[in-house]
Amino acid sequence: MIEKQRGGFPPGMTGSPIPKIGYFGWKTFELALDGVRVPKRNLMGPEGKAFLLMAKGLEGARAHTAARAIGLAQGALEDAIAYSLERRQFGMPIAEYQAIRFKIATMATEIEAARQLLYFVCNEIDSGRRCDKEASMVKYFASEMAERVTSSALQIFGGAGYTKLFPVERYWRDARLTKIFEGTSEIQQRIIANSLLGKSEVEGMIASRAFGNQARQGKEAA
Ligand SMILES: Cc1cc2nc3c(=O)[nH]c(=O)nc-3n(C[C@H](O)[C@H](O)[C@H](O)COP(=O)(O)OP(=O)(O)OC[C@H]3O[C@@H](n4cnc5c(N)ncnc54)[C@H](O)[C@@H]3O)c2cc1C
Repeated sequence: MIEKQRGGFPPGMTGSPIPKIGYFGWKTFELALDGVRVPKRNLMGPEGKAFLLMAKGLEGARAHTAARAIGLAQGALEDAIAYSLERRQFGMPIAEYQAIRFKIATMATEIEAARQLLYFVCNEIDSGRRCDKEASMVKYFASEMAERVTSSALQIFGGAGYTKLFPVERYWRDARLTKIFEGTSEIQQRIIANSLLGKSEVEGMIASRAFGNQARQGKEAA
């Protein structure tokens, strides 16, 4: 753990913020570390075991990202319900039209499915049982679901949804990120597929070729 004072970097560390299209609640920095000194007491686990320690945290981190995705989707659903009951077109609230009602039914069903899978994963984590496949499943399903649901909510808002006047545009932009960080959807699919089918031989061949090239380039550079 490298301690950092507010508004500045410790010696040897530099960084600049990356402009993003959403998730404005926090800034994202590209960091560079060059000769940063870290006191021994700041070690978070046994020396040389960092990858293992980080890998152990992945199940919790994936459940956490799924929870964020579900929260965004739930917010979008609640706002869409309220708007559809209030907005009148052709003489009645748009909530009367089947096209809107079915959208809301689908959104609520998808959210509940993700939520129940999340509760299962959290229970497994709390019970100390391994659930890497299920943690990947809920991260994958909840984030894909959140993009669909927030997009449906934006559609229910019509033109108003594409403005900055309602929070639904933010739910949609923020939900998009949940498919990318903490391991992309494709990486989650890979983990799930590997646990069902065994590791892909093709991917293994590609990886060893890539690492071989890297090692060769390293030797040439040396
Ligand atoms: C706002 C934000 C905050 C972030 N915060 C953090 C943070 O706090 N800490 C941190 O460490 N990282 C952070 N990240 C980085 C994030 O985890 C990565 O962007 C993400 O893991 C994807 O890696 P990449 O960007 O290098 O994409 P790439 O690995 O280049 O992937 C590009 C595309 O190729 C696909 N792909 C790559 N490899 C495979 C494969 N083997 N099989 C199938 N498809 C593949 C990906 O799914 C993706 O669609 C953050 C990113 C963002 C946008």
